[in-house]
Amino acid sequence: MLKKLILVLNCGSSSLKFSILNSFSKKTYVSGIVERLFLKNTVVYIYTHHKKYKKKLSDYTNYVDALNFIFKKIKDKYYSYYNQIDGIGHRIVHGGNKLNQSVLITHKILKIIKKFSIFAPLHNPANLIGIKISRKFFPHLVKKNVAVFDTSFHYSLPKTSFLYAIPYKFYKKNKIRRYGAHGISHNYILNKTAKILNKSKNLLNIISCHLGNGSSVTAIRSGKSVDTSMGLTPLEGLVMGTRSGDLDPAIIFFMYKKLGLSINSIEKILTYKSGLLGINQRSSDCRYSEKNYKNDKNAKLAIEIFSHRVAKYIGAYSSLMQGRLDAVTFTGGIGENSILIRNKVISKLGLLGLYIDKNANDNVKLNKNYFINKKNSIKILVIPTQEELFIAQETRKLIDRKNV
Ligand code: ADP
Repeated sequence: MLKKLILVLNCGSSSLKFSILNSFSKKTYVSGIVERLFLKNTVVYIYTHHKKYKKKLSDYTNYVDALNFIFKKIKDKYYSYYNQIDGIGHRIVHGGNKLNQSVLITHKILKIIKKFSIFAPLHNPANLIGIKISRKFFPHLVKKNVAVFDTSFHYSLPKTSFLYAIPYKFYKKNKIRRYGAHGISHNYILNKTAKILNKSKNLLNIISCHLGNGSSVTAIRSGKSVDTSMGLTPLEGLVMGTRSGDLDPAIIFFMYKKLGLSINSIEKILTYKSGLLGINQRSSDCRYSEKNYKNDKNAKLAIEIFSHRVAKYIGAYSSLMQGRLDAVTFTGGIGENSILIRNKVISKLGLLGLYIDKNANDNVKLNKNYFINKKNSIKILVIPTQEELFIAQETRKLIDRKNV
């Protein structure tokens, strides 16, 4: 019997990830990543449960060529899985203020994704290419492509959180407001936390920290996002691998007027040369700063500033919980793996009733137990995010509904 598999596509700014999985059994059959798109040494990795395949592609490979390569490979080499795919889920970074849930991709939806490319110029155009090439390779599934948005979860933000204090016309006319990002991950974490705590998600008040190369914190009250640290674009908020996060906007004027830097180069500095990399001057990878925490004062500073900013957001978002915080959650490459950062963040938050259990924090991965809090503390959990699974589940829901 056919297994009914979902192909999930995640076209990022410099990499492209895919998975073929069953949304019910949660089993992934094939997955892969193309790294270093548009750079030298573009490389593709494909994984099945017992094998790893690696191939160097031509230098500077673009999305179209990478997607063509992957789809052809899946068809030729993994036909038994290819043949069972009956829906395609796309991670779309920016759905603007129009879409509060996942949708089947129609002409109208394509237009919305295109329109909001203005606020996600590195992502939405790549997502559109992903949709186009998928439709070409899977012509029988054209009507079974689903868009799952990183912004949808934040549709519930109240005006007090999403409006910037600039003249109102920029919101009304130009749609400048906070949209947030990482919604797929925060939403998955909310659902998973509800399961772990055995509580209805609509009753949950949590602060969800997604800490990776891109990082964000979301305040979730009664199961809804009520504030989030990323803004109009994913540049605002926490310190990230190479992104500055929050800063005084006057820094931009200073760089422009006094230092004579062009707007383009300032954008590049804040997006690609700041964050952990900007502070430690060596690497955007948090593991570098951790490894050199004791012998390199800039690496130490990078960790301290990163942790300070996360703690500051948790403190601020506790004010939105209406008196009851059920849990603080950590996910993402750093949130799931960095014992040091979790410890640094939580140790600043005793005033809120958050206390970390050292042993649990050190061994959370090993123990496969989500909890890292002391007994007398508000719950603190480490939960591996599963964005692909969430996208597959959303896709399954929509294509099955369509079949009814
Ligand atoms: P993305 O935002 O690109 O999805 P990830 O969530 O995969 O990123 O996170 C990537 C980051 O996670 C890496 O840059 C690295 O800094 C961090 N990371 C991964 N493993 C560890 C680890 N063991 N300790 C500390 N940081 C880690």
